[in-house]
Amino acid sequence: YLKITNLHKHFETKQGTLVVLKDINMDIEQGEFICAVGASGSGKSTLLRQIAGLDQPTTGDVKIDGKPVTGPGPDRGMVFQHYTLYPWMNIQENTEFGLKLQGIPARERRERASYYLNVVGLSKFAKSLSKELSGGMKQRAAIARALASEPKVLLMDEPFGALDIHTKESMHNFMLDLWKRTNITIFMITHDVEEAVFLSNRIYALGARPGTVRREIVVNLPERSCQIKRQTVFHDY
Ligand code: ATP
Ligand code: MG
Repeated sequence: YLKITNLHKHFETKQGTLVVLKDINMDIEQGEFICAVGASGSGKSTLLRQIAGLDQPTTGDVKIDGKPVTGPGPDRGMVFQHYTLYPWMNIQENTEFGLKLQGIPARERRERASYYLNVVGLSKFAKSLSKELSGGMKQRAAIARALASEPKVLLMDEPFGALDIHTKESMHNFMLDLWKRTNITIFMITHDVEEAVFLSNRIYALGARPGTVRREIVVNLPERSCQIKRQTVFHDY
């Protein structure tokens, strides 16, 4: 469903070629909740940007539902660590904004916004500005906005990294509930292994040295005990 094949990503820097992602292969089924973990600099955000279509792989490809990713599109909803809500728009307008860009008529935009704000429990705050919301509420608003375009995959880059531990915990329960209710495919980046184990059904671990080690860990639900299914160690590690 979300298929990444032989993906390599290099950056040309003043110091020479920086290999960030090396031969990444992922096969994610519809409805999976996948986490990718790894140390800072291991290439997590770079990987997500290739899936989002915000950047092009050096070689290899990303396909969603059989369709190659060539740029950003409404089939992928994005949520970042720092809530990228527009401060001058209220929550409803933020939720509708992407739909407006897609040319969706006003009436359907309103209907979808109210529907997804209800899904994330923010119906009462539709007319509020983002500064009037707590961190967790802002992230739920960002999730509603991402869901409003009815994407095939929800992509999240350390969405709860800026939240305090209690808010994080409630967001974790919210995410699991959302996932069960919508059966949406989620690909979430985090450096918090515990978070990954709690949330996902499968974890990809990127190596500490960029692109060198990759592990796939299957989390057995509901026990959530980990088992390493496959380990790929490249010869230059
Ligand atoms: P963090 O946990 O800190 O967010 P990350 O795993 O998301 O880290 P990336 O942001 O993907 O890491 O960066 C991986 C490596 O790629 C880093 O060494 C970074 O400097 C490099 N990198 C990322 N984007 C570029 C770019 N546009 N040009 C050059 N190098 C880049
Ligand atoms: Mg990152």
